[in-house]
Amino acid sequence: MALLDFKCNECGEKFEELVFGGNVDKVRCPRCGSNDLKRIYEGKCYFGISGSSSGSGGCSGSSCRSCSGCSN
Ligand SMILES: [Zn+2]
Repeated sequence: MALLDFKCNECGEKFEELVFGGNVDKVRCPRCGSNDLKRIYEGKCYFGISGSSSGSGGCSGSSCRSCSGCSN
């Protein structure tokens, strides 16, 4: 599972949603209920956080799969 950032294309609401497996398609905007959402990547790492200096999210990278700032 991963905590993902979304932005709603309908109302512009930004929110975080805890997503399990491939259930990204089931995420709805908490404000207007729209499923027209955009994933936001801010280089944050939700996997393998170790506090090291590698990657912009400070992750070790070995188990990171959702971090756009991670070289892995
Ligand atoms: Zn919305």
